[in-house]
Amino acid sequence: MNNKSNYKYLLTDLTSLKGVGIKTANLLKKKNIYNIFDLLWKLPKFYTDRSVSSQIKDLRIGDNQTVTVVPLKYSFPRVKNLPNKVLCSDNSGKIDCIFFNSYEGYIKKILPLNKEITISGKVSYFNNKYQITNPKYISENSSLIKQKHNTYSLTEGISERLYNKIINQVIKNLPLLDEWHTKSIIDKFENISWNKAIIELHKPENTGNHKKNFYKRLAFDEIFSTFLVNSEIRSKIKKIKKKNKVINEKKQSEIIKKLNFFLTNDQINTLDEINKDLNSSTKMFRLLQGDVGSGKTIIALLAAFNTINSGFQVAFMAPTEILAKQHFLLFKNIFSKEISSELITGKSKYSDKKIILNKLASNKIDIIFGTHAIFQKKVDFKNLGLIIIDEQHKFGVNQRKKLSDKGGNNCDILLMTATPIPRTLTMTIYGDMDLSIIREKPKSRKPIKTYSKLENKIDEVIKFIKNEIHLNNQIFWVCPLIEESKKLDHSSAVKKFEYLNNLFPNQVKLLHGKTDTEEKDLILKKFLNNEFKILVSTTVIEVGIDFPNANVIIIENANKFGLSQLHQLRGRVGRGNKDSSCILMFKSNLSENAKKRINILKESNDGFYISEEDMKIRGFGDILGFKQSGLKNFKLADPIHDKDLFLLAEKEMSRIEKSNEDIGKFKPLIKLYDRADIINDIA
Ligand code: ADP
Ligand code: MG
Repeated sequence: MNNKSNYKYLLTDLTSLKGVGIKTANLLKKKNIYNIFDLLWKLPKFYTDRSVSSQIKDLRIGDNQTVTVVPLKYSFPRVKNLPNKVLCSDNSGKIDCIFFNSYEGYIKKILPLNKEITISGKVSYFNNKYQITNPKYISENSSLIKQKHNTYSLTEGISERLYNKIINQVIKNLPLLDEWHTKSIIDKFENISWNKAIIELHKPENTGNHKKNFYKRLAFDEIFSTFLVNSEIRSKIKKIKKKNKVINEKKQSEIIKKLNFFLTNDQINTLDEINKDLNSSTKMFRLLQGDVGSGKTIIALLAAFNTINSGFQVAFMAPTEILAKQHFLLFKNIFSKEISSELITGKSKYSDKKIILNKLASNKIDIIFGTHAIFQKKVDFKNLGLIIIDEQHKFGVNQRKKLSDKGGNNCDILLMTATPIPRTLTMTIYGDMDLSIIREKPKSRKPIKTYSKLENKIDEVIKFIKNEIHLNNQIFWVCPLIEESKKLDHSSAVKKFEYLNNLFPNQVKLLHGKTDTEEKDLILKKFLNNEFKILVSTTVIEVGIDFPNANVIIIENANKFGLSQLHQLRGRVGRGNKDSSCILMFKSNLSENAKKRINILKESNDGFYISEEDMKIRGFGDILGFKQSGLKNFKLADPIHDKDLFLLAEKEMSRIEKSNEDIGKFKPLIKLYDRADIINDIA
């Protein structure tokens, strides 16, 4: 069945392999290995060189070694806990093979007396004699043993021997795929083909070798397939023709003049990019990326304003009701009362909702704020021109694609995210969108002073916040995340609340996962109005909400968070013009590595820099929001270490886009790597 040039072999079921029955296939599925292609990425962790055999007298104790011997005598003690033993020898000395948990019959079969047998295993020395306990390999055919044997991290139930047998079979039958890259690309990897690269990848001696061409080529394939998919989605969106919006510059600058701050250069530039898109006759699909507190909201609201002035409706979606409400109030505050704006929440009365829906359908509402509820089927817009989505870094590429289909052809899309990630990752995760970045923070912004404190010094922290409260400032107190148990999180937050409330009576309130929405909204509203001073919460302080009067954040058990997450939490404060501080509390002294990480946070307030440094230390997989991003996990490529490959892929992609090259030859690449079948979906 193996057609030698067809990639489809790689997508066949595991049970088509010799030695793989349903049982083994199910075990592999547990490791997310569903077909032959998946097997290719399960790489040996290390290998054991059993290729050279020694004489018994030359064996090195403690090493895995191979030796050819003759079994001389069995000893089966039949006493519980005493192992079975086979005395063997070669012409240089004697060695005992020790067996725990093996039956006599089996031992007699694999080690028949007076025959030459090759054995391999870890050598020890006991009672003046060499011994090998439970030898890994025993065979009359020494060539089967005298090899380099790969060791994989295996699921229980699959032996190393079986796995090696499976993988060797796959490598032997690897199809010879036609090259999909151009010569100039493949030159960069010394012309190594995909097939050859896979073979190299599985050679024992290449384990962990990330610098070689075979590895780089395969990593590049992986990156490039993602870029291809992104590019296809983009070009499909770019083909959509829409009625362009006419930007009323005069009205826009009147609003900007009235703001109580000056826009930063980055804000001005990104607004410009968005306006150009609105004004063009192709559909906008743009991501506005900017660190916490960089001022994305005002830019989005101005874009909404321009869209409305051009005669269209706008839908503004936020992840939580309280944030939707804050945006709504800000909009009403800044823009003319002539623009009709509404907020839909879960609490809106049915009759009110019905009125709003009717008004939307008859174009009597210009802009609607709300959570995802504003995109329910029932909601019908008369003339939707722009969808704005705030803080949706959890949206994957499939969800975004669906979104871009919503609202019809005339509808532009603007997404906002505060998750600063290195460019290589942005290119990968958001490559289907155009990108605007706000790097600059408003000039009035003061750096947040960041301290670390041991938990037993809590008295000093209390003293510090007493003083802050005296100055009429407000404090976030983030309680420790105790493993995965919500119950424990809850109780520790309650305890901390009681402790603080005792010290600051009637000045403390508590928010945790179980607080119901209505009460949560009320508490947050009171906190916004400065009606109490300390908000104790588990990690979930709503993203995006602006609390200008809160200027201190205490984060307990800070080592439980990633740097990017700490930076995001810290970004809850320091939005006003007061001095602000972040106190990271730790249970015990920090390790050197932890200190290194915390110092990055203390030295910088630039989320992009912090995430990049954090990734260098921890790897990219753990970065905030990454796991939910919908990005498939890279098998080999690493956005930090393979930066050059990402840049090369970007360059090649843009060359292909510009030259309108047919991407048909990449079909196998896409079929193999794009498991979400996004391409199929859009084709
Ligand atoms: P984010 O980018 O995290 O969504 P916001 O849009 O909520 O940030 O802005 C944070 C705060 O900064 C708000 O209070 C906002 O009014 C203020 N702000 C926005 N732009 C500027 C600016 N150019 N100068 C000063 N303050 C600004
Ligand atoms: Mg925001």
